[in-house]
Amino acid sequence: MTYFFLFLFGLIVGSFLNVVSLRYDPEKNVFDFRNLLGRSHCPSCGATLSWFELVPVLSFLIQRGKCMTCGKKISWQYPLVELASGFVFLLPLYFSNYTLYPLPQTLIESAVWIAVFLTFILIGTIDYRLYLIPDELNISLALLGFFRIASTTFYAQFGEFQGSFIGSYAALFGLRESVILNHLFGALIGASIVGLIILITKGRGMGMGDLKLMAALGVLFGWPDTLFLFIFGTFIGAIVSLALILFQKKNMKSQVPFGPFLIAGTLTLFFFGENLLRAYFSFFNLY
Ligand SMILES: [Zn+2]
Repeated sequence: MTYFFLFLFGLIVGSFLNVVSLRYDPEKNVFDFRNLLGRSHCPSCGATLSWFELVPVLSFLIQRGKCMTCGKKISWQYPLVELASGFVFLLPLYFSNYTLYPLPQTLIESAVWIAVFLTFILIGTIDYRLYLIPDELNISLALLGFFRIASTTFYAQFGEFQGSFIGSYAALFGLRESVILNHLFGALIGASIVGLIILITKGRGMGMGDLKLMAALGVLFGWPDTLFLFIFGTFIGAIVSLALILFQKKNMKSQVPFGPFLIAGTLTLFFFGENLLRAYFSFFNLY
């Protein structure tokens, strides 16, 4: 029952994130909430939306994805972001079932990751629309990373087999004596990989926003997780780009924002990292 209400609360937070994301103006700060004042309008006809057109997910379904006044299609971003945000608020379920943290740390980790995932939603949708990632969102991720380092240190939940989303495989990659050194090294590696790619491709493949995002993810995930989320993200990006070219939605020269792929790679690591590595290692009989 608690989770049902958390999910509903998440849907409402999601409709708020949609407004933040779609009204975001690169000249202003994302967290400048003056942008949020004023009623919502249909972007096509400008009609002011009434309360029953603003109910998360349901309004979209009842109106069959169309504006009630002009009949123009409403962006799929609205219900998708609302649902995603609803599921984000179910993360405490994941932490209480799949981790062995003591209760206070379960609550702290849940809160940190809810904030991280909501930030991901903003980064993904803004990068998708404008091909840029606001600095203040990358800074938020890094700050959440430092908070996570502090709580991991406090609860002594770091070691050979702890604190990594690839489980015991992390031990193969070393640097597990100090949580702070491990995470700072993750940030350095993350920024270096993207920096190198920017130099080689002369900035056509990735941009400074991606570099800062990888550094922030490095602080959050540490080593070697940062390397793996990048590998997963690149892999997903390659497949999706190939599909877009095959179905002629894009050509070789068109720009594809990399942020959403990095986030997809991060989610893959978060939920499936350990299992994917186990499958990989057992396939090649390595470990
Ligand atoms: Zn309209």
